[in-house]
Amino acid sequence: MKEVYLDNAATMTKIVRAVQAESDFYKQINANPLRGLYKKSVQAETEVDEVRKLLLKLVKADNSYTVIFSRGTTESINLVANGLSKGSDGFGIISKTAKIVVDIESHHSNILPWKQRYKDVTLAKNLDAKELFAADVVSLTGVSNVTGENFTKRIKKVRKMCPQAILGVDAAQMLGHTAINLKELGADFVAFSGHKFGAPMGIGGLIIKKELAEKLRPLNFGGEMVDAVSIEGNPTYSEIPYRLEAGTLSVGAIFGLKETLKIKSDANAEKLRKQATVELKKLKDVKVLASNGLILTFQIKEVHPHDVAQILADEGVSVRAGWLCAEPFLRFKEWGPVVRASFSTFNTSEDVKRFVSAVSSVRKKMKYV
Ligand code: PMP
Repeated sequence: MKEVYLDNAATMTKIVRAVQAESDFYKQINANPLRGLYKKSVQAETEVDEVRKLLLKLVKADNSYTVIFSRGTTESINLVANGLSKGSDGFGIISKTAKIVVDIESHHSNILPWKQRYKDVTLAKNLDAKELFAADVVSLTGVSNVTGENFTKRIKKVRKMCPQAILGVDAAQMLGHTAINLKELGADFVAFSGHKFGAPMGIGGLIIKKELAEKLRPLNFGGEMVDAVSIEGNPTYSEIPYRLEAGTLSVGAIFGLKETLKIKSDANAEKLRKQATVELKKLKDVKVLASNGLILTFQIKEVHPHDVAQILADEGVSVRAGWLCAEPFLRFKEWGPVVRASFSTFNTSEDVKRFVSAVSSVRKKMKYV
């Protein structure tokens, strides 16, 4: 039975030429971009810096921004949250008591890095001026992984309402799918994951204002982030972005990422999501909770979402179920755990048919208690 993959918000089906480019890197180049002197190392380094430029271009960032590569959104937000806190090491600019605001829609990856390190973290329910006033950092969801809602307008509004704050965007579900114009958005940093838009896993990053990046404490210390290390005394660190990228980068994945940096049209995937929504709404006991962009979230009356996902899995349909790493939001909405189908450009109307048929079979298999 051919799998119908509808968990693209967890990780998108990979773009073949991206995977190919990753594999070609290891077959043909396989050199560490260590500011090396031999040809292949220079080639790797040149290409990595080229991908930084392409990323900046993709989000229409001017040269006041730079790109720091990381493993993905989670690591990027941890880098900022950790890096901003002022320490005796001279890094950081805010204290442990700084006021941090994140939106209630946030994924855990935009909550826990802040909660772990700061005492005053607000999960704002409607981002009114009261919450934003005097905030030191506001870190917001770009596109919700629960509802698919795009918050571009809200982010711009927040930028106007609190010019004093460091403004960040969790663009895990946004970058590579939706056009981002950093000049208009006014964000100081944007975190993203390549695997959410067809690139290999293990590569993502931060697109960040250079002057902010200058002040961040590195998350990791070690190779290639330092210029000089003496036997005694303090090291001299490299310039950004290298200072914030200790250790060997996932260079193959960066080569793969390069192949995904054109905004693909998600129009067909959105059409499929709409079709599926219309069909699901016709089914007895199915409650559609949200349907936007590439995401369709629902529940079936009196059937636990994990049972729904299991029955769908038995039919070869892969969806996500549970708290979707956004437990505060699902509790706030009083929805509890949910089932999420998320579409990509690789899905077909046949997939929608199989999905709808599998959902309609749930009621037959799970009788009322
Ligand atoms: N934020 C959002 C909105 C997400 O959907 C995800 C992935 N589920 C993340 C952050 C974390 O991304 P990653 O696991 O690639 O770090």
